[in-house]
Order: sequence, then structure tokens, then C-alpha cells
Amino acid sequence: MLTWSLNVLLALAAPADLILTGGHVLDDGRLAPGVNPGARASGAPAPAGLRPRTPVATAAVAPGPTALAIRDGRVLALGSDAAIEALAGPRTGRVALRGATVLPGLTDAHLHVESLGASLEQLDLVGVASLAEARARGREAAAALPAGAWLQGRGWDQNDWKEQRWPTASDLDAGDHPAFLTRIDGHAAWVNARALALAGIGDATPDPPGGRILRDAAGHATGVLVDAAMDLAQARIPAPDEATRLRRLQRGLEACARFGLTGVHDAGLDLPGVALYKRLLAEGRLPVRVYVMLASSDFLAAGEGLTPEVGLGDGLLTVRAVKAYADGALGSRGALLLEPYADEPRTRGLLALQRDDFARLLRLALQRGFQVGTHAIGDAANRLVLDAYAAAFGQAGGTARRFRIEHAQVVSPEDLPRFKALGVIPSMQPTHCTSDMPWAGARLGPQRLPGAYRWRSFLDQGLPLPGGSDAPVESADPRLGLYAAITRQDREGQPAGGWQPQERVSALEALAMFTRHAAFAAFEEDERGSLAPGRRADLTVLDRDPLAVAPAELLQARVLLTLVGGRVVHEAAR
Ligand SMILES: [Zn+2]
Repeated sequence: MLTWSLNVLLALAAPADLILTGGHVLDDGRLAPGVNPGARASGAPAPAGLRPRTPVATAAVAPGPTALAIRDGRVLALGSDAAIEALAGPRTGRVALRGATVLPGLTDAHLHVESLGASLEQLDLVGVASLAEARARGREAAAALPAGAWLQGRGWDQNDWKEQRWPTASDLDAGDHPAFLTRIDGHAAWVNARALALAGIGDATPDPPGGRILRDAAGHATGVLVDAAMDLAQARIPAPDEATRLRRLQRGLEACARFGLTGVHDAGLDLPGVALYKRLLAEGRLPVRVYVMLASSDFLAAGEGLTPEVGLGDGLLTVRAVKAYADGALGSRGALLLEPYADEPRTRGLLALQRDDFARLLRLALQRGFQVGTHAIGDAANRLVLDAYAAAFGQAGGTARRFRIEHAQVVSPEDLPRFKALGVIPSMQPTHCTSDMPWAGARLGPQRLPGAYRWRSFLDQGLPLPGGSDAPVESADPRLGLYAAITRQDREGQPAGGWQPQERVSALEALAMFTRHAAFAAFEEDERGSLAPGRRADLTVLDRDPLAVAPAELLQARVLLTLVGGRVVHEAAR
């Protein structure tokens, strides 16, 4: 009797917790070729089948598994429906895929969770087509605020406006409310007179280091603050309390789960924010995996006492990276360039770091076992970061440290091979390219343009190319990132053939950017980023196969299910 009971117990322990059958499962057989980070020799051309000009020959690929079994939060097996059915027991949960496609769970390798959550609560000016409309929306939002509260918003872009000019303080009619509206790239703010007064900004106020107060011909502040100058006004906005921050983090992550993301790299968070993540984790309220990059100021202040924390909560939370900034953004001409801006020859952009502090940060990170991801957009900023990384690595080399450059948008041809030589990972956001392409040429001029947003060139070096969105700068929706990476076109399919099309990537490579390469950039490639027995059961289930459909159809794909560690964190109404 005892023996019999034990057998029953063993049998009950052995079956899968959950099986998914009747779909297409994109396992390593479909995804492995050409997407192993670092696998290809430097400079060697991509295999012909991976070139963007050649559509992926899906018909030639052997049919892959149709079903997948999960146990204890990990992939137990992949195979035919019959083989997977055999692993089911009486308590096994079942998902009928009905032809849907199971991808390795998508990861966004660069976004800002709290800002994403906050953006869901603020005046949203993304896609607004004129200054007049932005003004009207601002007026309306201000009218709904309690007395004295700051009007906060984000997402405006004067390049998209009919008026084609910077906004001014007097354009912003918010009544008695001070107003602070962040530009789409997060690198400039449009403020009103009340905010300027509260910030103490007058004609005599000098530009702070790393920042600029836009002024008219008479020297008066116009109401746009660039990069570090934003802090003058932002410092006056009452800080969000803990409950607000917690709510924003959670809302941001929930939005990610709805988009089909199973993991995110949070690109710059303070230590109190990390404590809030730990609270969410302890309360079982972290829907997707979070890989935290600590804000450099917090890291420098506390660095000696900090140790990486890897895989807390069964891999839900990791804190082992530091985020630094080398420059600003291209749209606001804050990106640091080697030569002046083509459309504003008086400036080359802004340096956002102190070289000594940065060298100290790199030393400390190497000592303490932290990865560093440095924001660098202009070619001068990228060179400066590569130089600093090389100096910090010294003779020992740094490949194993997997240091990253976030954005790596404009890279001089001489610097391109240095990424591979130093083992530095370019962490890139495909939708930045397709958002910037209408005006990037004006900023950079024709000579530098081919050096911008060089995904193909980086991949051809054999480098991993983790993909992200930089949300809320862009939408966190990974379908948009995949589409942009494959096409280099806007959602209307313009320009025909793609902008600087030599840098497009294949659908397979685009998917690798948001799966395997993102995992590699977080030292997690043995745990996630692909589907194989033993890997974490992080799955994104789409109603169609992104490797088989035309890119434009990808934009219509529906996220049916998001699973993290075998747990359903988002389910679409069917
Ligand atoms: Zn960012």
C-alpha cells in the first residue's frame, strides 16, 4: 500500500504543470542559426539566408514542434501534440493554441518602467500634429487639475508640428498651474512662465553645465530647457511619494506584459526604486522579469557597499548593472558629435559626464562585478565611452564584463570594429531610427548619415544587438520594434525600400534582438531568450508567426498570451 502511494505521488510529481498544444513553437531549430551572439567571425558576411534582401524561406524549414510542456516554471519538453500530451497528468493545465505561434518570451533591453507608468498618468502629446493642438490639450488638462498642481506631460515633438518651431512659455496656457512638458526624447522640457519663475530662471541665469536654456534674440528664456537645464524646473516639482512610485512601477510592468514582454531592462533607477521593486517582488506583484541598471549617481554614492543581486525571486529581479550618460539626444541637438551639427554649425552637442567621475564609476563597477551601460548617441560620445571602457579594462580585457553602450546611434567608421574588439554590446532601439529618420539627415548631413543606426553593420561584426524601445520615449510595443528593425520604414511603409536600407535586418535577426540577444546582454542566455528544455518558461504567444508573415502584417499581430516562469501574466480576450 505504501509503495503504491509513493508511485502515485511520483507520478503526480512528474507530469507537466501546463501544456500548450496545437500551435507553432519557435524552438532553437527555427531560431538558432545566425543568432548566437559572438558566433560569427569579425567582418565575415552574414550567411545568405539571413540577409534582409532574402526573405526567410519558411517553406524550406522543417516543421518544428507544435506543443510545449512546462513544469516548475521551466520548459519541460517541446514536441508533437501527441508527445506532449503524454506528459500530462490529471492536474495538468491545458492551453489550446489553435494555430498560434509560441515565441521565446520577448524582452525589452532598454526602457524606463517608472516613467512608462507615469506617462500613462500624464498629458500625452505623442503624435500631436500641431502646436495649436498641443496648446489646446494643455489647456484642457490644466483645467482638470487641483489648484496649484503642476501640469505634467510628455511626448511633444516640434519636428512633427505644422508650425515647425520650438514652443515658447507663452504658448503654454495653463492658468495658474506651473507646467512642465517633456519632449518626446526626454531631453528637453517645455515650461510656462510660472514654472520659469518657480525655477528662478531669468535673463541672468547661466546655462548649467551639460544643459541649455533656449533664449530669444534679446536673451530672454523662451521656455525650452535642454538636458541638464531641465533639472532647474524639475527640481521644483514635488517628488512623487512612495505609493505613487510603486503604482507607476507596477502599471508600467503591467503595460509591458500586455505588449507581450516577459522581461525588461530598466535603464536607470535609484536605490529607493530598487527597494520598491523588492517590495513588489515580496508581494507577488512583479508580472515580468526586471533587470535593473542603477542610476550612476546612486551607484557612485553607495558603490563600495553594493554587490550585484542576481535572480531574486526565482529570476524575477536582478540588480547588476549601472546606467551612465555620456551625452544628450539628437532631436534636441544634445548628442555629442565629432563635427558640428549640419543644421546648427555653432554646436556639437553636450557632454553629460565628468571624465574623472566616469573613470571612477568604471573602476568601481569592475571591482564590484557590475556591468555598465552608458547612454551614447553622438559619434564623439561613443568614441569617448569606448576610450574610457578600453582604459578601464586595461590589459586584462573586458569581453567577459559585457559592458554596453545604450543607443550607439551615430558611430564613426573607425570606431565600429572597436565594439567587437572590446566586447562592448551595442544596445539599440529600432523605433528610434524610424522616428528620427525624417530629420536625422538634417542634423547629421549626408556624410555621417550612413554611420547612423547601424544594426546590420553591428550584426555583421558578430556582435549581439539587444533590442529595446526606450519607452516611454517610444511605445513599449515590441511589434513596432520588430517591424522597424526589419523594414526601416514608418507604419505607412515609407520610405519605399526603407531608410538607409543597407542596415535592415532579417525577421529572424529582429526576433533574436528581442530574445536571445537581450538575454545575452543581461548574462541570462542560459536561462532564457530561447526555447529548450530547462529554460525558463517565458513565452510570448502571437496569433501569427513573425517569421512567416510580411512585416506590415506584424503590426496587426495580436498578443494572445504572455507567460513568465510558466505563469500567465497576460491573456487577451479571445
Ligand atoms: Zn533611455
